[in-house]
Amino acid sequence: MRFDIVTLYPDMLHPCFSQGVLLGAQEKGLLAIHLHDLRAFSPDPRGIVDDRPFGGGAGMVMRPEPFFRAVDALSREIGTRPYVILLSPQGVRFDQALAKELARKGAVALLCGRYEGVDERVAELADLELSIGDYVLAGGELPAAVVVEATARMVPGVVGRHASAATDSFYSGPLLGYPQYTRPRSFRGLRVPEVLVSGDHERIRRWRLRQAWRKTLQHRPDLLGLRLERHHQDTKSRRHPR
Ligand code: SAM
Repeated sequence: MRFDIVTLYPDMLHPCFSQGVLLGAQEKGLLAIHLHDLRAFSPDPRGIVDDRPFGGGAGMVMRPEPFFRAVDALSREIGTRPYVILLSPQGVRFDQALAKELARKGAVALLCGRYEGVDERVAELADLELSIGDYVLAGGELPAAVVVEATARMVPGVVGRHASAATDSFYSGPLLGYPQYTRPRSFRGLRVPEVLVSGDHERIRRWRLRQAWRKTLQHRPDLLGLRLERHHQDTKSRRHPR
């Protein structure tokens, strides 16, 4: 699978993709991640990519032409038009189901905004406007990294034998993942549940399923269609309700 990220700050993203699972997947040829400097696509010889908003208002808006030229250039380079995503807090909310869907596209291009945002015509260029949550960041780079990493993990072979996407939260439905433990068995009075060291695989399987339900009910009842109350309470007070 191929990702192309068009951004004003390619150097900011390089470290995200040059270690760990994503580096391994690129080395195995399962992924190709290309970073592109938006200024290279500016029709302006000085590489200007923003301007004042029509109608007045604070801040600068990113001009549309560099994004259109970038998608044209990528389509020529790849030999087909990539699936184009505009990162925006106004987009549809990214989730695991969408990550799985994107992982089936051969090539995805991600367009990162900055400043006050992007000229609305870029939304018409995009196949999808995508948000990573209901908050506003300074730019689309961190959202792009989130989308690439979550999507790449859904590409067969990317997550190796040291981890399994299939037991992750959200993977096969609305349940959160079950609690995990490793050595030591006892630490500062905190003990690993006895069932996990019992060697009884059927008991462990049932315990994990029950725990996944318990965690989901406790932390994210909304995933089960229940009302989410007290969701700003910290984890500790949820675990030990007063
Ligand atoms: N004025 C815009 C608004 O109110 O919707 C916000 C612009 S934001 C400061 C600049 C850029 O950051 C956006 O164009 C987008 O690319 C990116 N961005 C910020 N928050 C985001 C989010 N939650 N999800 C995806 N992209 C986001």
